[in-house]
Amino acid sequence: MLKLMTASYQSPCKIFQLRDARTGEAQNFERCTMKLSDKLQGSCTLVGAGPGDPGLLTLKALRAIESATVLLIDDLVSEPIAALAPANARVIQVGKRGGCPSTPQAFIEKLMITEVRKGERVVRLKGGDPFVFGRGGEEVESLREAGIDVQVVNGITAGLAAVTSLGLPLTHRDHAHGVMFLTGHARSGGDTDWRALSCLAQSQQLTLVIYMGVRSAGQIAQELLYGLPAQTAVAVVQNVSLPEQRHIATTLEDMAQDMARHRMGSPAVIVVGEVMASLALAQAHPHKQLQTA
Ligand code: SAH
Repeated sequence: MLKLMTASYQSPCKIFQLRDARTGEAQNFERCTMKLSDKLQGSCTLVGAGPGDPGLLTLKALRAIESATVLLIDDLVSEPIAALAPANARVIQVGKRGGCPSTPQAFIEKLMITEVRKGERVVRLKGGDPFVFGRGGEEVESLREAGIDVQVVNGITAGLAAVTSLGLPLTHRDHAHGVMFLTGHARSGGDTDWRALSCLAQSQQLTLVIYMGVRSAGQIAQELLYGLPAQTAVAVVQNVSLPEQRHIATTLEDMAQDMARHRMGSPAVIVVGEVMASLALAQAHPHKQLQTA
């Protein structure tokens, strides 16, 4: 039986010295260097879980999940995706499940660093894309500061999936020349200038995709009416790609009222722009109607 003698490889030779437990004889191993060093150093991958449907995971995301030894899972990650974690992996839920407050960001980052240093293959599983309003940037910075290299695997972001699930395009040669992804819940002190955005959206024919906007929908709509016509088409899509997905098609002036009337709650994406107009047209009558997928 061979016992590990040195805890780290002798860079740049990358040779581990192992001692035979019976004879006491030392041997150098070069071939197994990668595996041993992987285990000793651990690894960290930020993985985008997409909007919820496991069918929308990338193959790369699936492979990372399947090879994880520790998974830190966010609230927005659906149950069927969380269930893909290997049976022997440690799964840590860091969201707000059960009405509890979410785990503080600093604690999550510390936990990731600790587990990587223990030699674990850490996968941080986040809803949608890790780098779209997901604090993925903060996590990567924190791990890099700790000297840990982080891999990032894209996921399909909710705003993109929301519009596609309605069979509509985010951009269209005739109606929208671009798209803006916005947060309705900016960090304090960093308020979004919705009036300026409304003028830009109108003059440049841009589709606005608003995340985390349910709570401030009334205020956002009010501000957007500054530069956009009252009849601008709006779609609000809740639980994108999940069996519970539902949406409303409305207009900017009626948006807040319709959201409240149909009890549109989080998670939902608000899409403002003329590309949404065909949704209202597709619905036989009143251009405001609750739809369930
Ligand atoms: N990184 C995520 C966004 C996280 S911010 C992504 O790329 O999708 C959280 C917000 O994302 C929610 O408030 C909601 O606006 C949106 N969101 C995430 N998942 C969603 C889903 N399945 N359906 C609707 N909106 C969703």
